[in-house]
Amino acid sequence: MTFDDLGLSAELLRAVSDQGYTTPTPVQEKSIPVVIAGHDVLAGAQTGTGKTAGFTLPMLQLMQKTHPERHRKCVIRALVLTPTRELAAQVGESIATYGKYLPIRSTVVFGGVGINPQIQKLNRGVDILVATPGRLLDLIGQRKCDLSHVEFFVLDEADRMLDMGFIHDIRKVLKLLPQKRQNLLFSATFSEEIKQLASGFLRSPVFVEV
Ligand code: AMP
Repeated sequence: MTFDDLGLSAELLRAVSDQGYTTPTPVQEKSIPVVIAGHDVLAGAQTGTGKTAGFTLPMLQLMQKTHPERHRKCVIRALVLTPTRELAAQVGESIATYGKYLPIRSTVVFGGVGINPQIQKLNRGVDILVATPGRLLDLIGQRKCDLSHVEFFVLDEADRMLDMGFIHDIRKVLKLLPQKRQNLLFSATFSEEIKQLASGFLRSPVFVEV
């Protein structure tokens, strides 16, 4: 299988080819078409499997396809939650890399650094927000970001999120999202707690395992 078989636009294929990728990894091969088809996904994949492109590419594809004109509005259309700032920064870089030929704006927010530059970026308008839970809730508390138009929600490394004690923050964020949205959950392991969390917000998910 090649990237051409996965239903990605010319802009995304060009960005992928600029990276020198020739073949999709197993998680990409399985998750990209399923996400593009609009399904919720529960994916078992570790770091190093190519999971970031596995959700970033189809997310960009869907955002480009459904409302190409909406990029001018200051509404967050996709939210990616990660457990750590390092992972948030990495996911943000992937989105910038794969989305470089698309008029889609993304930004990354995490704790431990000044909040004002992040507020300024949000004020300029963002389509995709990558965030760690604590800083996201701070920004929401200060009314600097509005999640009421999120169409696409990704919980990355969900098992680490729970290990780090983010369950209550995740539940708070989930309450702020609109009912109608697509959800993806990535986790390396599946404890009872993860399964419970997943069944609470994923709708008829397709299970992707590699
Ligand atoms: P991840 O598991 O998302 O952290 O990705 C692991 C590494 O694999 C990253 O450095 C990616 O740039 C790289 N990568 C992702 N997809 C591919 C691919 N299809 N072919 C070659 N490298 C890839």
